[in-house]
Amino acid sequence: MVPLQVPLVDLRAQYQSLKPEIMAAFAEVLESMHLFLGPKTRAFEQQFAEYCACRYGIGVSSGTEALVLALRACDIGAGDEVITVSNTFIATVEAIALVGARPVFIDVDPQTYLMDWRQLETVCTERTRAILPVHLYGHAAEMGPILEFARARGLRVIEDASQAHGATYQGQRVGSFGDIGCFSLYYSKNLGAFGEAGICTTSDPVLAEKLCMLRDHGSRVRYHHEVIGGNYRLDELQAAVLLLKMPYLEQWNQARQAHAQFYTQRLREVVPQAPEVRSWGTHVYCYYVIQVEQRDTFRKALEDAGIGTNVHYPVPIHLQPACADYGYTRGMLPVTEHAAERIVSLPMYPELTEEQLHLVVETVKQALLIGVTQK
Ligand SMILES: *Cc1c(COP(=O)(O)O)cnc(C)c1O
Repeated sequence: MVPLQVPLVDLRAQYQSLKPEIMAAFAEVLESMHLFLGPKTRAFEQQFAEYCACRYGIGVSSGTEALVLALRACDIGAGDEVITVSNTFIATVEAIALVGARPVFIDVDPQTYLMDWRQLETVCTERTRAILPVHLYGHAAEMGPILEFARARGLRVIEDASQAHGATYQGQRVGSFGDIGCFSLYYSKNLGAFGEAGICTTSDPVLAEKLCMLRDHGSRVRYHHEVIGGNYRLDELQAAVLLLKMPYLEQWNQARQAHAQFYTQRLREVVPQAPEVRSWGTHVYCYYVIQVEQRDTFRKALEDAGIGTNVHYPVPIHLQPACADYGYTRGMLPVTEHAAERIVSLPMYPELTEEQLHLVVETVKQALLIGVTQK
């Protein structure tokens, strides 16, 4: 096998560039032995909230828990329905199921893969309590009409912004539109810890307080438990890493955007579908997703050239065995299902070199041209 010349993501590259700072931050936390909800967590929460133009940031243990706690803070549970998309990572839907509510899926826009708000009306019932749009791959969902629909019916809006740290909709950063924004800070996201972490953003003081209690055993004062919460605190060592990485987020996103532009300009003519960016939003390219026919052959050709690819995601959530009880079958979300068979993610991370970008472009072109002549 050819050694990997361009991995899908290269987390070591970023670590190497920050190693001395990271080691110093770890040492500082360990010397203090203040290992949870300490000064690093508070500073990170504040900086991240400010970055999103929100009043509050509540650090939690993962993106999945951020979603669960957001739903709980909005009192969503048994008997409630939450409208979301099927073209997402399982965690979006797990969170809905874990609080006892029922996920209701609508399809996505075929070009952007984002929630098609035009379908909200068709699934909204008297049990609907919330809408959970996902800013998938790094592109902001079309929040205007989603919020309008929700406000007119008294529904909550919870954003899954786990792939879109810094992406904007009409000039405003995601995570600040709904009642609560939820971000994963998993190590391979645009802003990532060195383990598990997440954060909720909100400007509602009541929700902020509930989130703070829920993440820490339902208490405001230690050993006084007002509600049943749990242990979902952000780890102080992870907060130290995140705080240190925070100032780089914008430049990393810009690097991703430059790489994406490079790919798109050179591949648009050969790739059946390259990522689209809508005029109302920005894309921060957590993943660079194209569509190809004969995906397995395509991926094999790239693998042979030492280029990593992946599929985000090969099986839509509504067709997963875990979701069988919800009664969805193939054919019910045709856009999502069509895309799932063709999408493939190309290498994307800020530290990609020009040489690597060229190699990816040339290999993709070659793979697709061979594919065409074989047809
Ligand atoms: C990564 C991700 C999550 C889950 O985050 P974890 O931190 O891994 O729990 C949720 N939703 C989406 C869209 C994600 O990409």
